[in-house]
Amino acid sequence: MRPFKYSKANDAAAAVKSVSANKDAYFLAGGTNIIDLMKEDVARPDELIDINRLNLMQIKSAKNGGVSIGALAKNTDTANHPLVRQNYPLLTQAILAGASGQIRNMATNGGNLLQRTRCAYFYDTAMPCNKREPNSGCGALEGINRMHAIFGWSEKCIAVMPSDMCVALAALDATVKVQGADGKERSIAFADFHRLPENSPEKDNNLAHGELITAIEIPKNNFAAKSYYVKVRDRASYAFALVSVAAALEMNGNKIKQARVAMGGVAHKPWRAFETEKYLVGKEATDAVFIEAANAEMKNARGFEHNKFKIELGRRAIVRALSMAISSKG
Ligand code: SF4
Repeated sequence: MRPFKYSKANDAAAAVKSVSANKDAYFLAGGTNIIDLMKEDVARPDELIDINRLNLMQIKSAKNGGVSIGALAKNTDTANHPLVRQNYPLLTQAILAGASGQIRNMATNGGNLLQRTRCAYFYDTAMPCNKREPNSGCGALEGINRMHAIFGWSEKCIAVMPSDMCVALAALDATVKVQGADGKERSIAFADFHRLPENSPEKDNNLAHGELITAIEIPKNNFAAKSYYVKVRDRASYAFALVSVAAALEMNGNKIKQARVAMGGVAHKPWRAFETEKYLVGKEATDAVFIEAANAEMKNARGFEHNKFKIELGRRAIVRALSMAISSKG
């Protein structure tokens, strides 16, 4: 690992100031991804600002009736918090589907949003990768691309965002609160937080350098009774999703009043299945409707040599998640 300067910040403003002043400085929270990246020489910060002393660990009711989740709250504590378990069981399920118990105990919510792709070529510094080194090429495009994207990719990058938690947050219309170098706070809708690769795959999200995630807010909703997270992976634990689906339904009698469906393992960002949602609204929750709703989204998917199976898998995972959501006891 390359040498780097290490310091601890005592408040958010100081942390933001320090990172903003050095283009090669990063925040350090749980460290479950950045330290790996540094060991592999993929990330090369010359300074880490440890933010673990900041008061950003609270999970509490938000003014709008929703919940505010501190950026430094651990994934485990978030999944198990009564406000989350009772009102947003979809988020609990998604977090507990990710990583291992040990990693969830260390990993923070802010860090979960900022974790980088697990594309093997990104981690292999002997291979070309536009995300690691802009304009060097993409090893995955004609390489082993079994884990890669089927939606929203570009010729520059076909990587996927690996988070489970973020798939649920996308479905639940979360908002990300951030603090910038000018001391001002701003809110970013979850749909606008992560980026598609386009011509700049080196950028995973729309944060400016030095902006600090302070909290994630989820609005009040009526999805708790009918929601479900499906994760399909190569082994039962400690594996990234081939495809995952977060599904949430609000019923009005036997008709679907509102639907939220997001997918993981299929794009450079958590992928909202808007076509599926649109198809579902106003219809009865039957298997036939779920199949057509899945088809509406998956007809737009495009795969590569090794990952075309994800298109059928995605279709089936959407149907499965909706079926489990509607039959959940609430
Ligand atoms: Fe790099 Fe993206 Fe290509 Fe993977 S898919 S090698 S991350 S450019």
